[in-house]
Order: sequence, then C-alpha cells, then structure tokens
Amino acid sequence: MRLRGRHYATGEKIDVDCRGERIVAVRPADTGQPDREAEWIAPAFFDLQINGGDGHAFNSERLTADQVRHVVGVCRRHGIGQLLPTLVTNSFEALRHGLTTLRQCCEDDPALAHALPGIHLEGPYISPEDGPRGAHPRAFVRPPDWDEFCRLQEVAGGRIRLVTLAPEHEGALGFIERLTASGVVVALGHTAASAERLGDAVAAGARLSTHLGNGAHAVLPRHPNYIWDQLADDRLWASIICDGHHLPASVVRCIVRVKTPARIILTCDASSLAGLPPGRYREWDQEFEVLPIGKIVVSGTSYLAGSWAFTDRCVGGVMRMAEVSLAEAIDMASARPRELLGLPAQRLAAGEPADLVLFDWQPGDELRVRATVIAGSEA
Ligand SMILES: [Zn+2]
Repeated sequence: MRLRGRHYATGEKIDVDCRGERIVAVRPADTGQPDREAEWIAPAFFDLQINGGDGHAFNSERLTADQVRHVVGVCRRHGIGQLLPTLVTNSFEALRHGLTTLRQCCEDDPALAHALPGIHLEGPYISPEDGPRGAHPRAFVRPPDWDEFCRLQEVAGGRIRLVTLAPEHEGALGFIERLTASGVVVALGHTAASAERLGDAVAAGARLSTHLGNGAHAVLPRHPNYIWDQLADDRLWASIICDGHHLPASVVRCIVRVKTPARIILTCDASSLAGLPPGRYREWDQEFEVLPIGKIVVSGTSYLAGSWAFTDRCVGGVMRMAEVSLAEAIDMASARPRELLGLPAQRLAAGEPADLVLFDWQPGDELRVRATVIAGSEA
C-alpha cells in the first residue's frame, strides 16, 4: 500500500510504502498513483481517555465485545489508532464487568489488543465534592483501596495502565507509591487537594494532571488553588481537552505555554454520547444533554460530562487556541501519550508500525481525516 501526503513535521510531500504491518519505505513523492492520498500524513493518534462513543459506554454494566469493536471503529474514523478505554467511578461489580469484557476482547482479537494497549481507570478514588467530582456519580466515590484495586487489576489481566485519583483521601500517598511501583502511571484529577498534598502526591509518583482545568469547582479562590498548584509543578504533565468547550482559549494558551508542548497531552475525553445528534439522553441514572454546539452537559447544570468531539477536533483546537505548530499539535496527540506510558515512539520511517492518519488541513481550520491505516490496512 502506498500512501501520499505532506510529512506532518517537515511539510515535504512524501510517499509512505507499507507492507504487512510495517512501513517499508519513506521517500519523496514520485509521479506514480498512490493507493491513498491526502494533504498531510502523520502517525495515528493515541488517546489515553475515551469513555465510549456513538451511544456506547465502556462503563456500561451491559458492555459487549461488539460495542467495544464499534467504538474502536468510530475512533478510527477520527484518526485514533490506539486508545485507553476509560472506566469511571462505578460499583465494583460494574467495573469488574467492564474490565472483564475489555480483557476478553483483547485476548480474543489481536486487532483489538493492538487498538487497546491499556485501560484508564478514572475514579472511583476521586473527590466526593460537587465540582471536582464532575459528572461522576457520588454514590460510588470512595477512598483508595489497594485490595480492591488489585482485584480490578486481576480481572483486567494487568491491563490497567493509568489511574486518575484525588490525593487528598486518607491513604492516597501510599496507594500512589504502590501503583507506581507496580508500573501503573498515576494521574491527579477530580481533586480539590491542597498545594502541600499535591506536592506530596507528585513526590509519591504522580506524573500527570488529568484534564487540567476541568473536574474543578465552578468558583475557586483566585490564589492559591489546585489549578495554579498543578500548573506550577514542572514535574507534572497535563492532559487538556481542546474541544473548544472545556477550556477557553486563554487557559489553553497559558497551560501550553507553562507546561510547554513537551509535557502536554491532548485528550478528547470522548463521552459515550460523543458523535450523537443533539438531544437528551439517560445514563447511569442521570440525564445528559447533547447541545447543538457539540457540547454535553448534565441536564439542568453547567457541568460538562465529557466531550462530544474526538481527538482530531482537539488537534485543530490546540493549534487555534495556543498557536502551536501542526507538528507540535500532532505530537501532543500521538508521541506524548505514548511517551508518558513508556511505549515506543512511532515515527514516519521504515521499520515503524504502519499506523497512520491521512488528513486535510489548512491553518485555522478543523482537521478532516481522510483515512486511518492501522497495521497496514485501512479500516
Ligand atoms: Zn474526568
């Protein structure tokens, strides 16, 4: 298969030849006919926080393998080659069902195992407070419990790679140390912790702020507060949702300037309602509303409940809001999350996996994904 487009970092028009699951050659475009062509070509996106999409939630107590496959297919249409399916605060039984289903999907289907290189557990060990808790159901929020986590990790077959928690819980620091020692990356999020506690959590091993600037009180003391504290800590990377609704442009600019593109990860935080038409939907015994502007809220509140958009929208968003280059934006959506999780980087070079996205884009515009090639074949 021959793919043609401009290299996302150099701008050079190239042909990328793929055979089997690998890239076998990258060279200046010739005059022959390619199999697929778009304005740009880049490594496929990697999103470490996807809750579902198109009406299917990874968190559902009735999650099926077909639904997992469907969401992976939807993500692929948006250039996402790999993702961490994200399970949020729920009962032990519900989490066990989701983790078991995801584990079986990966064991039964090598393509799904490739697409889902880990699982993100966001909660249930988060803040119970209104605001920091976001749309997570309060009834299932609880303090960290190492025995429970070990049982969840066991049913997941060791696939939980990222845990988002609030470090202010009693016992959280020891919990972070144990997670880190077991190879799980710890993220801070849905937290209202003090500056001192946040610093202690980082010292214990926490490395990421999950969707910094969201999952927070609607009103905060101007300073100090936990957003400034996390922003100021150079040891913490930050994931940000650049769908245009979760953060205003000024905040995106500040976070990207302070963290620098080297420590920013783009996530769409796609909700199970991502991509659905406007309307009211019921999930986890709560009502949510998809607004015509592509925004999902808990009905009757201003609290956002995940994103309606996917990673491709966020790549365009961060370029517009923080004035970063295409290369920087793409790297935030592919190289950075891989780096955080200790996975090998994927470059446009012979020998690398043929996991690629072809898209059209003009400065100031949205990205338009034309094709996503995974393991050398187009879905
Ligand atoms: Zn969240």
